Amino acid sequence: MVGENDRISSFINSLDPGNLPFLDELERAALEDQVPIIRKDTQALLKFLMAQNKPRNILEVGCAVGFSALLMAAYTDADTKITTIEKFEKRIPVARENFSKYDTEGKITLLEGDATDILKGLDPGYDFIFMDAAKGQYINFLPDCLRILNKGGLLVSDNVLQDGDVFESRFAVTRRNRTIHARMREYLYELKHNDQLNTVILTVGDGMTLSVKL
Ligand code: SAM
Repeated sequence: MVGENDRISSFINSLDPGNLPFLDELERAALEDQVPIIRKDTQALLKFLMAQNKPRNILEVGCAVGFSALLMAAYTDADTKITTIEKFEKRIPVARENFSKYDTEGKITLLEGDATDILKGLDPGYDFIFMDAAKGQYINFLPDCLRILNKGGLLVSDNVLQDGDVFESRFAVTRRNRTIHARMREYLYELKHNDQLNTVILTVGDGMTLSVKL
């Protein structure tokens, strides 16, 4: 988001009481290492959803070094389970180290590999899915996410506005980004028109959708 929206985000973020100190430290380290993690306002929304929804069985697609998984773990009850998927070999050991240090209640399970394959093998029973992997693949992950998400469960997708690219004409987007642009538009259309879902698109962070399974 640009311009006026930046000012709105800065104002909203300035009111945020912050996270637990170990999360602040992880966030700082991730940003320093240029690991993409959820933004401040996205963090606030996730924390709100954890408190309001009280999910028991969470799936995250796109773990990176474990920041958002640990944030969800820190703000849920002790009996919540979180499964998170990551395929990038360099990030997996860092995530494992972070989980062994900070996931003191043993809530988090890390599945290593490509979500395209892993999702197919997962059994139904998730009440919250956080989609935060390669944006161009969301549309391909959707059928499995719908299959394994409980009725009444929530699918939350991050980065759906792609820094504003998604609402530009495809010709205003660099050639390199056109496939992602088309796929994200297809994903948003599907979320809004699929009979199994009720979806709201929010301008939080880099754009988020909340979809409840009917
Ligand atoms: N959720 C993390 C956080 O906020 O702490 C950030 C996730 S980062 C934006 C996206 C991650 O998804 C990257 O680490 C990337 O390697 C991973 N990823 C992308 N495509 C994937 C796939 N098909 N299967 C598994 N992981 C994938």
